Amino acid sequence: METVVADVLVNIAARRVEKPFTYAVPLALREEVQRGCRVLVPFGARLEEGFVWQVRSCPQEEESNWKEINACLDLVPWFDEAALSTAQWLSRYYLCTLAEALRLFVPGKRSVRTERIYCAGEAEPEGFSLEELALWNLFKERSSWTEKGFCQQAGEDGVRILRRWCRQGLAESYWQGRRRTQEKTESLWLAQELSAEEREAALRGLERKKAQAAALQWLWEHPFIQRSQLAQSGISLGVLKALTEAGLVRREERRVYRQDSYLSEGESELEPLNAAQQQAMAAIAEGLDGKESQEFLLFGVTGSGKTRVYLEAVRKVLRSNRQAIVLVPEIGLTGQLVRRFRAVLGEHQVVVWHSRLSEGERLDAWDRIHGGQAGVIIGARSAVFAPAHRLGLVILDEEHDGAYKQEERPRYHARDVARERCRQTGAVLLLGSATPSLETYERASSQEGMLLELPERATAAPLPQVAIVDMRQELKRGNRKILSRQLQAALDAALRQQEQAIILLNRRGYATFVMCRECGHTMECPHCSVSLVYHASAKILRCHYCDYQEHVPDVCPVCSSRYIRFFGSGTQKLEEELRRNWPEARIARMDQDTVGRKHAHEDILTAFRERRYDILLGTQMVAKGHDLPFVTAVGVIAADSSLHLPDFRAAERAFSLITQAAGRAGRREKAGNVVVQTYNPEHYAVAAAQQQDFPRFCQEERSFRKALGYPPFSRLISLTIAVEEELPAQRKAAQVADILKAELPKEAADIMGPCPAPLARIQNLFRMQLFLKCRQPEVVKEVLCRLSIEGDPQITIDVDPLHVL
Ligand code: ADP
Ligand code: ZN
Ligand code: ZN
Repeated sequence: METVVADVLVNIAARRVEKPFTYAVPLALREEVQRGCRVLVPFGARLEEGFVWQVRSCPQEEESNWKEINACLDLVPWFDEAALSTAQWLSRYYLCTLAEALRLFVPGKRSVRTERIYCAGEAEPEGFSLEELALWNLFKERSSWTEKGFCQQAGEDGVRILRRWCRQGLAESYWQGRRRTQEKTESLWLAQELSAEEREAALRGLERKKAQAAALQWLWEHPFIQRSQLAQSGISLGVLKALTEAGLVRREERRVYRQDSYLSEGESELEPLNAAQQQAMAAIAEGLDGKESQEFLLFGVTGSGKTRVYLEAVRKVLRSNRQAIVLVPEIGLTGQLVRRFRAVLGEHQVVVWHSRLSEGERLDAWDRIHGGQAGVIIGARSAVFAPAHRLGLVILDEEHDGAYKQEERPRYHARDVARERCRQTGAVLLLGSATPSLETYERASSQEGMLLELPERATAAPLPQVAIVDMRQELKRGNRKILSRQLQAALDAALRQQEQAIILLNRRGYATFVMCRECGHTMECPHCSVSLVYHASAKILRCHYCDYQEHVPDVCPVCSSRYIRFFGSGTQKLEEELRRNWPEARIARMDQDTVGRKHAHEDILTAFRERRYDILLGTQMVAKGHDLPFVTAVGVIAADSSLHLPDFRAAERAFSLITQAAGRAGRREKAGNVVVQTYNPEHYAVAAAQQQDFPRFCQEERSFRKALGYPPFSRLISLTIAVEEELPAQRKAAQVADILKAELPKEAADIMGPCPAPLARIQNLFRMQLFLKCRQPEVVKEVLCRLSIEGDPQITIDVDPLHVL
């Protein structure tokens, strides 16, 4: 009989386990084991999870002593063809191993836990001490033991004893795998079918047992009682047990799906689409009906009703019995969206996926998508890997958001993964934003029919008026406070009329650059047009692209002012100032310190929406897509602090932040009042944000990127070399740079660096950086692989890095 073998990728996070390993498929598993299944395989001394890449019959001459697959975990392959191809694309595009790419598709990265099981062997003990004999007798009482179980009886030494017994042939051991998370079942009790006479007889029998009689009555009136309902109904477990023993009640186990706690919003009225929405939807509908994958950018100003279009698109997908993945940058901030979707589409159609779910909740969410019971998954970036086998649509809301990039290995961007998944399945990719990323906008401008616009707000509310306050002038007039007089006036007006205010403190970039408070001058690299980074330890300024260095000046090189200093001020200080100004106002603070808990984001926002607070104060998070009807004043403090990060995307981030924050104001009839405080009123990002004029910003930004050859006019790849000592790190980085200079064709890429990373020392590793500005990224990747640079444990490769810090 021919031998059937499977090539299996072992799910271990080690880079050396790159290639598939071949295993024999035992006869008993031939029907189950298919390409895309998860299996258990012996690997080294252990049992590990593996992913079947292919099943094939093995020609005789190739036959060898294959180990056998131990078990198959899936009845239906977990990975479909599109998922397998997407994983393959991921590993090639991001230069990670295939196993690393595949495990992204598994909830919790691993589906099984393996453990060693011990049982008594053939031999009989000789010369045991009394103590050991007692342990041995205990051991023989059970047919099998886990290490943990035995140690509970035998103490810390248990494992050593078991291993010794194994060596002596007294015990044997083997590996066993079990699902990492179990499906959750719940007990429920039902009354047995009884005729009227039988019922009466039963009650007579229970005359003295009032509690049992009452419980029986209850069960006759209800279909069943669940364990979780016992407390509410006043029926005790003991009573049910007695009734079960008496044969009047029976007990069953049933699977329950654990779910997050977002309940649907009460009303499910859908406004009819307005003209712009209809036009966008018509294009999307055509895309959904087509066979080939299509991509759209829904470019709509804040409050233009993008969510309404998403809903319409998802409804259409569900009608054709397909599934949709809806990605949001931060699930904690989107409870409103989830509730809206549930209200319109039905509680059970929608599952939610994010990293704060418990393991059990995640397993259940993915099982419901995999099994097809749910049609829509709303989640953070990793939901792009959800096992939707009938994928029709992927939506990325706020597609410009940096949270879509995973900053740990494998460093993927959810937008690019989504695009590939859609390409594989013929699904539609719908990107939405009021401030699209330059990459996306550039693509949309050159791709026929991709750009869909919602130019106006969907409600009667006009876009808010945005005032720019020059903080240099404030200083000149003697105001050293954080709040400008204009912002104070706007807050006064809002609070007096019992409306609400949001204040955003842009703390990113805090104290990393040096700026003059008198004239706004920022210390920049003369060669690279990016801010110099302040290195506190050495007290110098350094360019993080080319390693240019200089000392921190005592006075401003432009205006000679002494007010040249490290910029920044915290939320706490601002909160104090607000409390001094408005002692009666109720202030909520939302920043990293206050949102640690599971639903903290959600709770603060809900309280604010219900007007239990007057002012919401916070960092970046407060700018993200909330629909808050009673906010009429918005202040942006230090709007430009992120402009000076030594990052070519700094202007883009500042523009998007100001525009998004401004978009929170005046969402209903009342006009909004937005005050933006800055030291750089003339900067094009600030000026364009004041007009909420994306095309204007884009035009300026494009020409800057084009001139310097930054994305979208090139692709970046960054290499970070981390070594324990500074000198060897520099030597190694120089070596890598030299090799690349020799091996990379000139037209493929420019090499920038090496230079120390801005945070040069992290966890006792000294870090050097190299950037490759690639015109031919495929060629560059090929060279990196050929030189095995991607396999070097001291080198981290980031393809399309978002942050260059
Ligand atoms: P966006 O996601 O573009 O910021 P939303 O979808 O949150 O905008 O919509 C903003 C507001 O406009 C919401 O209050 C929503 O109910 C309302 N809205 C959306 N579409 C319509 C429509 N067609 N008719 C009336 N109101 C609408
Ligand atoms: Zn430089
Ligand atoms: Zn100055």
